[in-house]
Amino acid sequence: MTDAERLALPLLDVIMGYDCNLACDYCTITPAMRTRALTAPAIDRELQQGRREGYARVSFTGGEPTIRPELVALVRRARALGYAAIKVQSNGLAFAHAPNLARLVEAGCDELHVSIHTHDPVAYDRMVRREGAHPAMVAGLRHAIAAAIPVTADVILTTETAPRLAEAIAWLADLGVRRIDLWFVSLTDGNAGNVASMPRMTEALPQVRAAIALAATHAMRVRSLHIPRCLLGDLHAHAFDPGAGRVKVVTPEATFALSHSKLAGQVHVPACEGCLHRAICPGVRTDYVARYGDGEIAAARGQAATMTGSATGSIATRLPIASTFR
Ligand code: SF4
Repeated sequence: MTDAERLALPLLDVIMGYDCNLACDYCTITPAMRTRALTAPAIDRELQQGRREGYARVSFTGGEPTIRPELVALVRRARALGYAAIKVQSNGLAFAHAPNLARLVEAGCDELHVSIHTHDPVAYDRMVRREGAHPAMVAGLRHAIAAAIPVTADVILTTETAPRLAEAIAWLADLGVRRIDLWFVSLTDGNAGNVASMPRMTEALPQVRAAIALAATHAMRVRSLHIPRCLLGDLHAHAFDPGAGRVKVVTPEATFALSHSKLAGQVHVPACEGCLHRAICPGVRTDYVARYGDGEIAAARGQAATMTGSATGSIATRLPIASTFR
């Protein structure tokens, strides 16, 4: 199955629970959320319901899905129910023990996302707050690549990781990774108060630009989540909106379309009017506009800012909520 064929399948995104074997310093999951999880029978019911509703692809995520002993059985169950594509999204540590990954692949997992945060060992261990985790992540990533199924490296853009992004891409290229997703850190839930973790998008853009240029020399696919097309400029084809397709998210407490998630773009600002990309752009994330306002987007569109964010000393109470939230 090609990437395009896989992406075209309606996706059931199963957040099995929020617990994890790491505690990343930018994570949006709160301690209270970590105690919440879907039971295996509940996930089984959601898988059955998903098939009845026409979902043909499933993603098992969390938290960290590999800490759940039922994961292999649930992957096998999804395959038996007729899901044509099965993804596991992981921090990769469990894959350091190769049989863990072999069992998943044998059960029917045919796509992996591995969160690498950063290639730097010291920075990685500090970010995930677990000493000695980096070698396990690297071993897991190597085993994932050797499994000969599509592997995407998820790389988070934070104030700390963005300056070393091009180095990370070079490191991933040497390992044999050919698919990269760039996630922009979010100031929501458990990370809401960690404002220093989120750079301005325009500050991160030179690194994103350098990373995409480097990736092109290695025939790597780079997708940028959350940074709107107006800021990506001539690189707008790299923008990726996971919620653009039919995606149903199942969590321990709710079920919703991914396009309605607070982790997806939700806000269109005045400068969006008349934008070439308006019809396909989900807008900017609420937490980003609250922090930095709309000045960067307005500037990219040759207009004056209409909203300031908390970073410039004025809480974004001027957000025209009724007209911008979809
Ligand atoms: S619709 Fe708005 S946020 Fe989206 S690309 Fe256009 S100007 Fe940027």
